[in-house]
Amino acid sequence: MQLTAMKRIVVFGSTGSIGKNVLEIARSFPSRFKVAGLTTNARVDVLYRQIRLHNPDFVCVKNIAAGLALKAKLGNRRKVRVFLGEEGLIEAAGRKGPDMAVMAISGSAALAPLLQAIESGKDIALANKEALVVAGSIVTRRCKEKKIRLIPIDSEQSAIWQCLEGRHRQELQNIYLTASGGPFYRTRSSALAHVSRAQVLAHPRWKMGEKITVDSATLMNKGLEVLEAMWLFGVQPSRIKTVIHPQAIIHSMVEFIDGVIMAQLSVTDMRIPIQYALSYPRRLASKLPCLDFYALKSLDFFKPDFKKFPCLGLAYRVAEQGGTAPAVMNAANEAGVEAFLNNSMRFVKIPQVIERVLSQHRHLENPGLNDILEAQEWARQKALSLINRIGS
Ligand code: NAD
Ligand code: MG
Repeated sequence: MQLTAMKRIVVFGSTGSIGKNVLEIARSFPSRFKVAGLTTNARVDVLYRQIRLHNPDFVCVKNIAAGLALKAKLGNRRKVRVFLGEEGLIEAAGRKGPDMAVMAISGSAALAPLLQAIESGKDIALANKEALVVAGSIVTRRCKEKKIRLIPIDSEQSAIWQCLEGRHRQELQNIYLTASGGPFYRTRSSALAHVSRAQVLAHPRWKMGEKITVDSATLMNKGLEVLEAMWLFGVQPSRIKTVIHPQAIIHSMVEFIDGVIMAQLSVTDMRIPIQYALSYPRRLASKLPCLDFYALKSLDFFKPDFKKFPCLGLAYRVAEQGGTAPAVMNAANEAGVEAFLNNSMRFVKIPQVIERVLSQHRHLENPGLNDILEAQEWARQKALSLINRIGS
């Protein structure tokens, strides 16, 4: 592709936190990006405004009732094609035309459309991490076989990827994955038993969707990123170190075999890694403020507390185990987070549910996609019944 060619993008999960930022970037470079498609689970009010602004060729609404309401509202006024339901999402993912699919659906629901987008030969800009955690071997293998780019949006993975550009993988010794520590890294363990939904959702550095914000408070988000980095960069989990860095200015680092460390720094704003994923291999001028080193007083680093945040250790454990274990952990976590967000379970019970589900799971070493989907469904059901029993 020519460096200056217009990129046609389809944004999966366009009504979420990442999706909206993707559209903002696309809008600020109208000669470089054309929005070809948009999808939402059910936020048709937001999607309607996005259709008016971006004039996409097609959209998809996963929730059928909400999608029918959107169709009625659109009437015959617009030439946008509307797909509905899970089938519609797969059809949207498989459509020829767009050059790039931005995957910003949250949770493991992203896996099916992601695999379909890969099959159709589109480059992928990946914000979603759960799909890689669940089926990293399949996703990365199919990307290689189809010769498409899998470009990370998650800020830590984007940082590592930028530090590794032009280097041989044999030169890489360790990855330092930075973590802000979430809202509770200074909170005493005993106080975690009674934290409220509002406290958990008050992330000190990033404004994100609810699921990832809860994951940031348990440090499961960092755990998921260990698995994400493992698949994106082909690195063993023992070589991926987690460092608490509360200022969230260094977005991650790589250490080479000669002891040299490269870090990527920028202001704390997801529009930076999103823009680079969209514009890659070029860099485009950013409209955001740059880092001001004179205003930065210090950059701090701490070891994570694995006892206070058991989710991080669980993620390292399943990363070592491989097979179906990551999918089981992820499904139990999704069920736990949902129960917490619905006020039917306390925050500290999330790791307990995951641990219990993992301990009962029959591990498969080399699973195919169907084995993974079955293990995931088993784990979800198991977690739901545990939540019913131990919930509040
Ligand atoms: P969000 O909750 O704000 O948005 C999620 C989007 O996905 C919405 O458009 C929603 O309609 C859609 N969606 C949700 N469930 C769906 C389903 N079952 N089927 C189809 N569509 C569905 O989430 P977000 O914060 O934008 O995060 C999106 C993904 O990006 C997550 O996997 C998250 O881990 C990852 N990520 C987010 C950030 C961030 O700053 N928000 C940073 C790094 C990575
Ligand atoms: Mg991240």
